Amino acid sequence: MFTFPKPKTASDALRQAKVAERARTLFSDGSYYWYDCGNGFYGVAKKSFDVIPDTTYTVVLMPAVSCSCPDFREHLDFCKHTVALWDALEAMDEEEQIERIEREAASCELETTGCDRYAEF
Ligand SMILES: [Zn+2]
Repeated sequence: MFTFPKPKTASDALRQAKVAERARTLFSDGSYYWYDCGNGFYGVAKKSFDVIPDTTYTVVLMPAVSCSCPDFREHLDFCKHTVALWDALEAMDEEEQIERIEREAASCELETTGCDRYAEF
């Protein structure tokens, strides 16, 4: 999960709660999508569902979080795009890790299937 900075004021805390809440469903509700631009750059875009092009923001997560949206430019700490992308990438990494473990387990089974370790007895 994205780690928010410690809020200094009540309005900071409120903003964090709002951003976290919105970020949670940003991609899953279908209103936004993201793509990998390479070299650590990502695009987070809001679907316009119209003839006008989608609104796209450029997001960087490492070594420091940044986004080209007005909210981030104003506060320079986080925004719904950076938080949502962070969590999306983290979730993907977990899935990939699980897949890798399952693949290794499957290949391990294949390797041992033909080998009878009690053959000499
Ligand atoms: Zn943003």
